[in-house]
Amino acid sequence: MLEQVDVVIVGAGAAGLMAAIQAGRTFPGAQIVLLDGAKTPGAKILVAGGGRCNVTHDAVDESAYAGASRHAIRKVLRRFDVPQTVAFFRELGVTLKREDTGKLFPTTDRARTVLDALLQGVQAAGVTLRQPRRVEQITREADGPFCVQGPWGHLRARRVILATGGCSLPKSGSDGHGYRLAQALGHTVTAHIFPALVPLLLPAEHFLCALSGLSAPARLEVVSGTGQRLAAFTGAALCTHFGLSGPAVLDISRYWQAAQHSDPAARLLIAWLPEHPPEQLDQALQHLPHSVGRFLLAAGLPERLARALCAAAGVEAAHHGSQLPRAARRALVATLTGLALPVTGTRGYTYAEVTAGGVPLTEIHLKTMASRPAPGLFLCGEICDVDGRIGGYNFQWAWASGYVAGSSALLAGDA
Ligand SMILES: Cc1cc2nc3c(=O)[nH]c(=O)nc-3n(C[C@H](O)[C@H](O)[C@H](O)COP(=O)(O)OP(=O)(O)OC[C@H]3O[C@@H](n4cnc5c(N)ncnc54)[C@H](O)[C@@H]3O)c2cc1C
Repeated sequence: MLEQVDVVIVGAGAAGLMAAIQAGRTFPGAQIVLLDGAKTPGAKILVAGGGRCNVTHDAVDESAYAGASRHAIRKVLRRFDVPQTVAFFRELGVTLKREDTGKLFPTTDRARTVLDALLQGVQAAGVTLRQPRRVEQITREADGPFCVQGPWGHLRARRVILATGGCSLPKSGSDGHGYRLAQALGHTVTAHIFPALVPLLLPAEHFLCALSGLSAPARLEVVSGTGQRLAAFTGAALCTHFGLSGPAVLDISRYWQAAQHSDPAARLLIAWLPEHPPEQLDQALQHLPHSVGRFLLAAGLPERLARALCAAAGVEAAHHGSQLPRAARRALVATLTGLALPVTGTRGYTYAEVTAGGVPLTEIHLKTMASRPAPGLFLCGEICDVDGRIGGYNFQWAWASGYVAGSSALLAGDA
């Protein structure tokens, strides 16, 4: 006979694990099964934060996210905030520490501590984890239970929580099939789904590629074809053999791609002296009593970068600033404060930390994370059209939306 349970949660990543723990705790005695297609669960938790798992950030609000409307994102985030996240993990035996950047990590500095605690939490909540159990199809006849299917067989469930993530790091098990499962149950997905928090590619011959390994503070800015500033981030930029990486580059990557979708004339600019506005820099150079190179080193630029930027502007680093011809000075200022980057693409999902786009939040009741088109279905985590900055924000979205979905899965009237 076909096994029937109360709740099936598809996906045992951050959101699914949280939803499982919360559903088990909220509805004791319910039969809850957590399925995951991967051989080992929580792969992304283990690699997160360079193996230390940046669990959250001490200052989370909707301004750190993109995709759905900020108002909608806020509604979910405030249901399970950072102090609740800290308390939740403390209760699971994981103490978190705050670093100067505001990021929170486990005091052990080991992502394994976080994953093990979550898996024990799932077990303690009475939820059964089964894997590898990839879900290929979810169907439903009229108002009957869902039929959850895969190569392993079938399972009937009164409620289903879809926590299958997006497409980033596909070898972890998140390959985008969750979107098709949601679509088959009546959802849409955004017109564009693309890698976010992803390194950017430059032409191989670009001078920044030759500076591979060099990291410096910079401001990255996306401007529209008409010159309007669409997004800006300041932080470390890392030159690599393929182009650019580093926190500021990862943060801007989704905005550059989003701009390309609507405005192919949009450009990405980099300012290597983010503290210096162009006019101020121009003035400083005009009155410089010594060489441009010396000035740039004093301003904090690494020597290799200073030399390369001078060369790109067609200026000798040894040239006295005050004696620079006007056109050369202007070219140098432009190169230092707004160098246009001829980005050719991104490194793709294999190197992306998150996916931009997904199921619109307008299709979800945000009080419960219940699906509007498919009563009985709930969605949480990265499958939703929400992506955050570097710094623990994406996990906080997973914890908060997973908490809401798990708390609501068997409430009467929400399906
Ligand atoms: C390298 C890297 C580092 C990161 N570091 C951080 C960090 O430090 N801090 C931070 O906040 N965020 C970080 N992130 C982002 C964060 O990991 C994700 O936003 C978060 O894991 C999303 O959680 P999720 O549960 O929605 O999806 P996922 O973690 O992707 O989990 C989805 C799960 O569903 C399973 N699944 C998918 N399809 C199916 C199917 N059809 N059937 C059954 N199972 C299925 C997958 O196997 C997977 O286990 C990082 C991401 C990467 C790739």
